[in-house]
Amino acid sequence: MRKLSILGSTGSIGKQTLEVARKAPSDFTVEALTCGSDIDTLFDQIKEFRPKVCSVVNEEKAVELEAKLKSAGIATEVLKGNEGNITVATLDCIDTVVGAIVGFAGLEPVYHGILGGKDIALANKETLVAGGDIIMPLIREKGVNMLPIDSEHSAIWQCLKGEKREDLDRILITASGGPFRGMSREQLENVTVEDALHHPTWNMGGKITIDSATMMNKGLEIIEAHHLYGIACSKIDVVVHPQSIIHSMIRLKDGSVLAQMGRPSMVLPIEVALYYPDRGPSIVTEFDPFAEGMSNLTFEPCDTEVFRLVKLAYETGDKGGLYPAVMNAANESAVMSYLAGKIRFLDIERTVFETVEKMDPIIRNASLTIETIEQTDRDARVYAGEIINRKINE
Ligand code: NAD
Ligand code: MG
Repeated sequence: MRKLSILGSTGSIGKQTLEVARKAPSDFTVEALTCGSDIDTLFDQIKEFRPKVCSVVNEEKAVELEAKLKSAGIATEVLKGNEGNITVATLDCIDTVVGAIVGFAGLEPVYHGILGGKDIALANKETLVAGGDIIMPLIREKGVNMLPIDSEHSAIWQCLKGEKREDLDRILITASGGPFRGMSREQLENVTVEDALHHPTWNMGGKITIDSATMMNKGLEIIEAHHLYGIACSKIDVVVHPQSIIHSMIRLKDGSVLAQMGRPSMVLPIEVALYYPDRGPSIVTEFDPFAEGMSNLTFEPCDTEVFRLVKLAYETGDKGGLYPAVMNAANESAVMSYLAGKIRFLDIERTVFETVEKMDPIIRNASLTIETIEQTDRDARVYAGEIINRKINE
């Protein structure tokens, strides 16, 4: 039985994790739940799963939730702020942290969870993009498991089972191509937030949906795979596969290509991570190769001249150090401004490129520690904020 602390339980991955736990109450206990500020959803989850502890980043909302729980006669302890996230990631009563917070905010609690000897089931890719060089060695040092939830990385992980790492030649990471697949730069100038939020195959949180539209998501995933599987970014190819049935492939040194398939649903990769090293029950719709949309699986290359953030991810991933952290922070700032309707779609990309360029002399020879990563994240947001303000006033 896994004893779970779910960080970001009110989000898309958090809710689907609870769906897995709900289906198999004898396989999981839910000991802790956290959110940023959505206490209504958290309250309902607490009522159902009765965790010992919960935590809310927004302190006012935490006080509100505490009162609500008290009047409902529910004894779940309420923690607050970033400290609360760290505490729930290191509780004695848990063995697994589910990292389902969005963005860089997920790094610190996951880092402490590893220090505390917990297995990490990770959806929060930004943690590995910014901190992979610290996180992965720490995983090995502490002898805990890194259980990938991101569907492509789960696919790669499953394909690698039983294979020797030195036999891995290349990774072929698949991408749906997002809502703007096939568009020109001119067309991208005028897309709306509504268009960008309309993903063709996946239903996800706002930030990752925009990342899928800019293809930054695939860029982040290249760096995520680099850290998880110890392979150079230049050995990871992006394959645009709009049906999202093949979740990724690996090529072995003899030329064999292995793929993992399934209907697009995050429930399965979550289940694969949480039942590791075993296999859980069948929860998702059965795979039917003759069903509609299955008979025509297509593959095309990614146009990195249109979706330039993919190219930047290869570059920053290869440079390593603090470069990916800068790219990630600038992207988070720009995506939030885009979602708030403040900047245009291609301004996301422009902000990220300019921030990386501006910070290049500062980070070129900087040392890499958890503290320098956190400081760099803060600095990059300041630079990105200035660029965004300039764009708003243009
Ligand atoms: P979401 O926006 O739906 O949910 C985010 C969760 O994090 C919410 O519970 C929110 O309250 C919490 N949160 C937000 N800011 C926080 C903060 N500062 N501190 C603590 N908690 C905070 O996001 P999502 O789509 O579930 O994505 C979560 C992560 O999983 C992201 O890193 C994303 O890239 C990754 N991921 C998501 C999917 C998917 O299908 N949604 C697939 C693969 C990977
Ligand atoms: Mg993915």
